[in-house]
Amino acid sequence: MKPLYIVMLGPPGAGKGTQAKQIAQELGLVHVSTGDLFRENLKNETDLGVLAQRYMNKGELVPDEVTVQMVEERLSRPDCEKGAVLDGFPRTAAQAKALDGMLGKYDAVVKAVPYIKVPDRVLVERLSGRWMSHSGRVYHEKYNPPTVKWIDDLDGSQLYQRDDDKPETVRHRIKVYNQQTAPLIDYYHDKGVLVEIDGTQAIDAVRDDILNAVRQN
Ligand code: ADP
Ligand code: ADP
Repeated sequence: MKPLYIVMLGPPGAGKGTQAKQIAQELGLVHVSTGDLFRENLKNETDLGVLAQRYMNKGELVPDEVTVQMVEERLSRPDCEKGAVLDGFPRTAAQAKALDGMLGKYDAVVKAVPYIKVPDRVLVERLSGRWMSHSGRVYHEKYNPPTVKWIDDLDGSQLYQRDDDKPETVRHRIKVYNQQTAPLIDYYHDKGVLVEIDGTQAIDAVRDDILNAVRQN
């Protein structure tokens, strides 16, 4: 069986991470989030983490070269043998081309690109209420609350809010998304793999739509 790759596309706060985790579990694939990988490097104070932090704090993209290198290393690990659900990557045209090159080596292609559509005004509310677990699990104070406030349901650890989820940084991230990432909608549409998903629905309904679309593609 050829490896299966799915790319989650959508603006910051659309629900990519929330959905990618569920879809990956359902399909037996690995969830690869570049945001999580950068945050892990940041926590471990690696050179990559120190470099990435400068960009992340401002809501800017980390340069393509280091990002692509990090993803290439991640996808080459044995747990990605069956493929992966990519979340937060690619985010630029250069990254999308680099991904095609990488997958070519495994004789694989991007099979489906669920594009989660959510209007801008909803994004700020979603991100200002986002609570993160250090393991990368995502909650929302209103839409997906943990059983006990600020505590991770699964491991009991303390949840936190991301520094870059402040409204002014969020607005800049949305701008960066519109300039640098939105062009990928056409890129994947032209390849015939894009599927538009209504991201304003409840989390479970969004998941069902994505699974149906991926299974049909
Ligand atoms: P992204 O990875 O695209 O930035 P997340 O998955 O982190 O988005 O979701 C952003 C915030 O919105 C989180 O707090 C999450 O719990 C919440 N959220 C995700 N999907 C939905 C949804 N369908 N309805 C309401 N809130 C959602
Ligand atoms: P969101 O949940 O808002 O979609 P992410 O967790 O995916 O955000 O990303 C957080 C930050 O990490 C980005 O603002 C950016 O600085 C950096 N980042 C993540 N993925 C990439 C990427 N593919 N290319 C460049 N920078 C990235």
